[in-house]
Amino acid sequence: MKNPDILIIGGGIVGASVGYYLSKEKLKVFLFEKDYPTSGSTGKAIGGIRQQFSHELTIRIMKKSVKTFSYLAEELGMDIDWFPGGYLFLAHDEKTKENYLKAISVQKRYNLPVRFLNPNEVKEIVPSLNPEGLLGATFCPTDGHANPFKVTYGYLEGIKRNGGKVFPYTEVKEIKLEGKGFKIKTDKGETSSAPIVVNCAGPWAREVSALLKLDVPIYPERHEGLVTEELPHLFSPMIVDYRADGSYFFQFRSTGHIIGCYTPIPPVLGPDTSSTFEFLTEMPRRMLRLIPALQDVRILRQWAGSYEMTPDGNPIVSETEVPNFYIIGGMCGHGFMLAPGIAQLFAEKIVKGKSSLPLDEFRLNRDFQKREVMR
Ligand SMILES: Cc1cc2nc3c(=O)[nH]c(=O)nc-3n(C[C@H](O)[C@H](O)[C@H](O)COP(=O)(O)OP(=O)(O)OC[C@H]3O[C@@H](n4cnc5c(N)ncnc54)[C@H](O)[C@@H]3O)c2cc1C
Repeated sequence: MKNPDILIIGGGIVGASVGYYLSKEKLKVFLFEKDYPTSGSTGKAIGGIRQQFSHELTIRIMKKSVKTFSYLAEELGMDIDWFPGGYLFLAHDEKTKENYLKAISVQKRYNLPVRFLNPNEVKEIVPSLNPEGLLGATFCPTDGHANPFKVTYGYLEGIKRNGGKVFPYTEVKEIKLEGKGFKIKTDKGETSSAPIVVNCAGPWAREVSALLKLDVPIYPERHEGLVTEELPHLFSPMIVDYRADGSYFFQFRSTGHIIGCYTPIPPVLGPDTSSTFEFLTEMPRRMLRLIPALQDVRILRQWAGSYEMTPDGNPIVSETEVPNFYIIGGMCGHGFMLAPGIAQLFAEKIVKGKSSLPLDEFRLNRDFQKREVMR
């Protein structure tokens, strides 16, 4: 059997998509996942997909991702619950409005169909929204949502169809330099060698890099989520309220569940992913303030997972000081949406030596000063 060309560590959306696009280019991929695929952050994601960012490269990557999501079901031969219901970023104060207007002027340079709506226009899009204190909202109708489990498993099946191998329940314990490449050892005592290794270990990217004595600035931050019972159709877009006591949530078009999160202040740093009673009581209060019609809706389940944060809120897509050892991580809570775009660009870089969008701004040794505003 032909030896692998690339070893991928991590079976979340990033590892799965990177593996898929490399295997599509006829490279032989071996992917290792210490637990089951989606057991990390990917299985905790709510599934939101947006192009409204302030960083130009992120906007351009997200345009590529959204286009990909629109035909991915056909390409993977599997429904992924993609629905372009849009994203509505609410502004309740002048400063936020000003930031959003600035971001719109950048987004328009890349032809995003984004607009700032007045409160009456917002009500036309979400009639059940409480307009109290609302100054308006940015709206991009081509943003949307999809199912993280289905997309990840669709990519993994694609890797296998393209001749690669996926090893669930197999933890990479050692990475050693060997000749011009690497030899890895797993917890099962097995070894594999290849010229290239890609660290897609999400919140564990730092630990995996440490196997080569590298330190990378990616650290986990706890985020909680909840999902309601199925409901008749109420609204289409993701509703984002970035006030200190805000929240963000949307209704899955395919099932009717409403799913959402909020970002705690101060952030909860560290690997702990236990759920809290505080979130269970606070999140519905925040949702009800925006959509009072949710008053009698039952919550089905709550959970918690990790965002993989970097100092500037932007990803790391980079070779390291160990040649041919790459890191694709630090997605800062946007890994599901970014993965299809980033993975295709990374595959271009590996295969052609250059990607069609330059990924240099996401290199590991940047100064981390250019912060994402719409994080
Ligand atoms: C509550 C919540 C809501 C979110 N909502 C969204 C959203 O709406 N949209 C969005 O785009 N993103 C969202 N995110 C963020 C998104 O989930 C992550 O950015 C994304 O899943 C990261 O993917 P990943 O593949 O890098 O990491 P992961 O999914 O964590 O995958 C990494 C994998 O590596 C494996 N691993 C680690 N170490 C080893 C080893 N030594 N050997 C083998 N395997 C190893 C882990 O088991 C894990 O499965 C959300 C996150 C949370 C917590």
